[in-house]
Amino acid sequence: MIPRYLMDVDVNQLPRVEADVIIIGAGIAGLFAAIKAAKERKVLMITKKALTESNTRYAQGGIAAVISDEDSFAYHRQDTLIAGAGLCDHAAVDVLVQEGPHGVRDLIRLGTQFDLENGELALTQEGAHSMRRILHAHGDATGAEIVRALSEKALRHPNIEIWHDHFVVDLITNHGECCGALVIKPTGEKVIVHGSATVLCSGGAGQLYRYTTNPEVATSDGMAIAYRAGASVRDVEFIQFHPTSLCYPGAPRFLISEAVRGEGAVLRNIRGERFMEKYHPQLELAPRDIVARAIVSEMELTKSTFVYLDITHESAEMVKNRFPTIYETCMQFGLDLATDWIPVAPAAHYMMGGVETDLFGETTLKRLFACGEVSSTGVHGANRLASNSLSEAIVFGRRIVNKVLQLTDKVPLPDELENLQRKEPVHQAIVEKRLKLQKILVRYAGLKRNAKGLQKGYEELKRQMPIFESALTKREELEFANMLTCALLITRAAEIREESRGGHYRDDFPERDDLVWRKHVVFNREKGVIEERISDV
Ligand SMILES: Cc1cc2nc3c(=O)[nH]c(=O)nc-3n(C[C@H](O)[C@H](O)[C@H](O)COP(=O)(O)OP(=O)(O)OC[C@H]3O[C@@H](n4cnc5c(N)ncnc54)[C@H](O)[C@@H]3O)c2cc1C
Repeated sequence: MIPRYLMDVDVNQLPRVEADVIIIGAGIAGLFAAIKAAKERKVLMITKKALTESNTRYAQGGIAAVISDEDSFAYHRQDTLIAGAGLCDHAAVDVLVQEGPHGVRDLIRLGTQFDLENGELALTQEGAHSMRRILHAHGDATGAEIVRALSEKALRHPNIEIWHDHFVVDLITNHGECCGALVIKPTGEKVIVHGSATVLCSGGAGQLYRYTTNPEVATSDGMAIAYRAGASVRDVEFIQFHPTSLCYPGAPRFLISEAVRGEGAVLRNIRGERFMEKYHPQLELAPRDIVARAIVSEMELTKSTFVYLDITHESAEMVKNRFPTIYETCMQFGLDLATDWIPVAPAAHYMMGGVETDLFGETTLKRLFACGEVSSTGVHGANRLASNSLSEAIVFGRRIVNKVLQLTDKVPLPDELENLQRKEPVHQAIVEKRLKLQKILVRYAGLKRNAKGLQKGYEELKRQMPIFESALTKREELEFANMLTCALLITRAAEIREESRGGHYRDDFPERDDLVWRKHVVFNREKGVIEERISDV
């Protein structure tokens, strides 16, 4: 049984801090929402690491929005729906494409400097986009530029208090509404924060997999926290594996952006043969799940652990100017993007599902909002269109703030929290448990799945569940408990969905089955342990 709270605490013994709006996370979603809400309210923004450490910081390719006269909302909508493979919420997609340009202008007003070409915003094209609509910054450092601009604003804002290196353990609820959070300070002390609204902006789940493009903060905390608090979690079987992460001894799984293929790079197997024509008419720019599985098939065929990405037809000058970060990172490992074929392999990259929200970012738990990668707004369906996630965070962030500003009163904190009288510490080293979990997910809930493997993976994960009855004290123990929660949900959802679609591929059910499966798998803790509810799209 996954418990309501990860720790036993006496609320009356802990210090309390009051805020109007509590924001958990400091990536694009958290920073943007904090700055917007701070115009009218006192905001407390909490992040478990440094202010600048998040998935956002590593975003390379850019942010999608309809800017060019040749483009239209209808085209962006169509591309998003095709990538989402029949599971997008059409109303949410309309919100994204129609409000995206406004969101981008907001980012520019807040100081983000996107690249220009002849005085106009420079636009590039990425996989599965039919138009050039991706804005980028410093070539391939879009996320870092957004974080720079927004964090500078947030740091200077008198209405924003920032707690970095603070870990949110759980949300606190009273009478079915969210009223605050339990937080651990860097000193280990616990504190309760109390607010009228809480916005979960805690990012993704890449660290659930052994191979990921995500930084260490992406341990799926927010999804587990929201699930424990009673919010519904949706579409978690859909994980996007980025087709091209650097795969070289001693190198991290650094992402080689889709934009490199957008500029004409081709994929070759280790025999030097191009292969994408066997798999999809859009070749290297096919949807990510198709490219990723094609790469795995070629790796299996050639008994290799990687394929090559080849952009050597471009001039060294173009490659260095357009992809400075990728170029320099590859060079650190002796690989010259301009003259060498770069070894790449797929890695876990993006969680399509998450905490279910309505069109205003409100979750099924009152006063709890979710924004950015932790949320499931319905925009991405079964597969995210490249560069739609940064746009989603600002579009829905703005909507959330409009809602949050309407909440002025606070729900009182409860007198006590569920207490399991935990005493036993964790015995096995967490680092071992974590590695084991990551391997289980790669093996059984990765790019290719089937019932037998998923059942085995689920059983192996369940053996780790006694951790929920242990007295957890360290941050890595709490993170592991969150990872385990989400790993259980993902394997269960993947087993339930007996078809293949978007970021979920079952080799025992390789076809998409619209008749039966045009629906979401939703989990809600209060309706039973890892129990699914299926609702029509
Ligand atoms: C390498 C890479 C490249 C990408 N490129 C692109 C791209 O070009 N375009 C695009 O649209 N998308 C891209 N993405 C995806 C995109 O970057 C993310 O989806 C997006 O940045 C998520 O933003 P966020 O604000 O939701 O979460 P994040 O930016 O991940 O921020 C999460 C925040 O939550 C905090 N947090 C988490 N748990 C806790 C806790 N328990 N307590 C306190 N704080 C907590 C973290 O410390 C962090 O501050 C890329 C992702 C990666 C990894």
